[in-house]
Amino acid sequence: MQSSMSRALRCVSRRAGVAVHTQATRRTLSFSTPSSASAVILNSTRRQYATSAPDPATLPGLDASKLKVTLNEKRSTPPPSSELKFGSTFTDHMLTVKWTSETGWGDPQIQPFGDLPMHPGAMVLHYALTAFEGMKAYGDPSGRVTLFRPDKNMERLNRSVARVTLPTFDGGELIKLIKELVKLDAHWIPTEPGHSLYVRPIMLGTQPTLYVGPTNEALLYVVCSPVGPYYKTAIKPVALLGTDKYIRAAPGGTGGYKVAVNYAPAVVPQMEAEAAGYDQNLWLFGPEYQLTEVGSMNLFLVLRTKDGATELVTPALGDLILPGVTRDSILAIARGHASGKAPIDGLPKDLVVSERKIDMAEVKQAASEGRLLEVFGAGTAAIVSPVDRIGWEGKDIMIPCGEDGAGPVTKTMLREIVGRQYGRIPSEWCVVVKEGEA
Ligand SMILES: *Cc1c(COP(=O)(O)O)cnc(C)c1O
Repeated sequence: MQSSMSRALRCVSRRAGVAVHTQATRRTLSFSTPSSASAVILNSTRRQYATSAPDPATLPGLDASKLKVTLNEKRSTPPPSSELKFGSTFTDHMLTVKWTSETGWGDPQIQPFGDLPMHPGAMVLHYALTAFEGMKAYGDPSGRVTLFRPDKNMERLNRSVARVTLPTFDGGELIKLIKELVKLDAHWIPTEPGHSLYVRPIMLGTQPTLYVGPTNEALLYVVCSPVGPYYKTAIKPVALLGTDKYIRAAPGGTGGYKVAVNYAPAVVPQMEAEAAGYDQNLWLFGPEYQLTEVGSMNLFLVLRTKDGATELVTPALGDLILPGVTRDSILAIARGHASGKAPIDGLPKDLVVSERKIDMAEVKQAASEGRLLEVFGAGTAAIVSPVDRIGWEGKDIMIPCGEDGAGPVTKTMLREIVGRQYGRIPSEWCVVVKEGEA
């Protein structure tokens, strides 16, 4: 009894290093602190593992000035843009940075793209200690390369990693490193309209142990993949199946974080929706069948209100909703218009913008009264994805999409966001990686 007690104590103190990064984190975080939920978890972890580990304030943070570059000797030729399949082609280089609770962030490396060495006991492989981001670099024929609101992706990745005990980092430093990687592989960015370079930052908990707990080793890396347009020819509306048999997220769950655990379980529901003749799930929640998200995109609806105004509705953020960068951008553009500060051609004059609950009963009623004007998904991959049909209770609710596949609000948002991504519409959201040649 005694000895197992002291063994347990030894075990705790051996693992004391693990919670240390939480303080380092707070010190180095430039864009945001972890959400209160993560902070509570990490604080209680810190209490649990009373510390004898290095003072986190002395540990090195992520530092782009320490970058080491090893060029790929065997460069490959980017395939013709018409042959790109989403996410299956990778560029010549990748960025990797290691972290340990004893030594903090190591030197960032840009190195030839290739396999990662991985211990079979690495925590990520067993317990999904991983979180990721999806962002894009946009190129034009002059050679100019831009990113769109990368600070938002860094802020979100910091929240997501903290939720699964991974170390946070200085987002500004990771943006600098991503710019270097994108510049080096800039010739991989297809410049045809609608094409881009998908940039995937991801962090893994790599401590080799079958123990379930906070990791004391992590790997941050970034890979890039040239992608074609979401819509090959014209905009194509999608059909959604209202799904109440499965949920994507729940109060107290991880739906508000881009953590890998949210995605694998969504594949079976997606396949079932396809088998039933639809393109994607409409994730519903609770006894009132609250609408939450579409596949892995945020959801927007355009309604005519009973007093004749036009309302743009999206569910409010919280545990059920991933805080999308596209969602935030659409809301900002719509609010700028609605307030009269930045009017947008193509948006209705009497626009009301709401982040609120909306359930299937309201959608059904609005549709039956001809007040359901538009429905669309929003995310980095497609920007907007118009919906023309929602399967629910064995029937289809039809949504007008017009001749060109999307309603006026959907189309206007697409134009406004694409314009800002490529810098054609001046905006502080557009971050230049590399200027083009005139
Ligand atoms: C990534 C993601 C989104 C969209 O976020 P963007 O930042 O706009 O790309 C929406 N919902 C889920 C579940 C996601 O994973």
